[in-house]
Amino acid sequence: MIYLDNAATTRPFDNVIERMRDFSQNCYFNPSALYGPSFVAAKEVDKVRAYIASRIGSGGKLYFTSCATESNTWAFHSGIKNKKGNIVISMGEHASVYENAKNLMSQGVDVRFVGLNSDGTVNENEFVKAVDSDTSFVSVIHCSNETGTINNLKSLTAHVKKVASKAIFHSDGVQAFGKIGVNCTDLGVDLYSISAHKICGPKGIGALWVRGGLNLSPLLHGGGQEAGLRSGTENTSAIVGFGEALKTFTEISADKISEMRETVKKILSSDIIAINEAHMHSPYILSVSVEGIKAEILQRKLAAQNILIGLGSACSSRFKKNRVLSAMGRCERQIEGSIRISFGPQNLHDDIEWAANTIKEAIFSLKSI
Ligand code: PLP
Repeated sequence: MIYLDNAATTRPFDNVIERMRDFSQNCYFNPSALYGPSFVAAKEVDKVRAYIASRIGSGGKLYFTSCATESNTWAFHSGIKNKKGNIVISMGEHASVYENAKNLMSQGVDVRFVGLNSDGTVNENEFVKAVDSDTSFVSVIHCSNETGTINNLKSLTAHVKKVASKAIFHSDGVQAFGKIGVNCTDLGVDLYSISAHKICGPKGIGALWVRGGLNLSPLLHGGGQEAGLRSGTENTSAIVGFGEALKTFTEISADKISEMRETVKKILSSDIIAINEAHMHSPYILSVSVEGIKAEILQRKLAAQNILIGLGSACSSRFKKNRVLSAMGRCERQIEGSIRISFGPQNLHDDIEWAANTIKEAIFSLKSI
């Protein structure tokens, strides 16, 4: 099987599984207990916490969550204390941000949605118009899960700090973290959400990075774990798996991934295929629109040949309308025929060439029906 849906999730590295198995068997103690082996567990958790935090920015704190959806939700909870002021988000957000914003809107909060340029980046003119001195919370995705487009967060945060200096700037970094350079201190980001299963770590573990000096409201009350902000016994083996995955993912050559992406792009390129990409993009995602075919049918046809590809966001692939591509100005026929090919460290260049040719043949055969 050739798995090309790595933006949906990745296969955990063998060493991650091994480390988690070992930790689950030999260091299963509750990190909050007051005997020796528990201290070892707590120390390991804090070692990983410090390591991951250091890879996001300097002087920040990292809190573990059950997934990035939870991190994004927590960011919203903290960002809009007392529902005062307005919220600004982009139309390119993952559902776990977008639906939180819509939920607040249904409760009467002033939520402003900023459109996208045709390359998927946030429309900065619209952004400037949307942010004002009453803005309390902003959320802009770092790297799009649909197209791989990278937003210029530095320029957006600079504008927010100028106009609404107290506003909290959150970014969903799930598709960026470990894959492209991330430095939230330099970018001016206050809150950053990440998830282990996109970098060959386990599912069910995420984190929220918080800039130094910023105080969050608690998300879960209870035993007081995660500095009293997110109670619940730590998922210790998943946390050590997260750390292990990040270390290993860091060794992956981005050039190797870029080469695979370029190979597919070159093979698929023709006047019937439009590539949805920006100048600044992740090497891990290639989004392609083909007018005149139904992407679901292409996906099924390829699955029958053991090639697994995605349809934009895995979370929203059950729904017809693709909000992100639509905000980029793609027409219905283009959206219907949009696929997402996403790469991972386990992909092999030789497989990729065959897969790309098979995808191309499948597209041509569907177009001729
Ligand atoms: N944000 C982005 C950009 C994603 O791609 C995903 C996963 O698809 C999520 C958030 C949600 O992550 P999780 O599965 O950890 O909740």
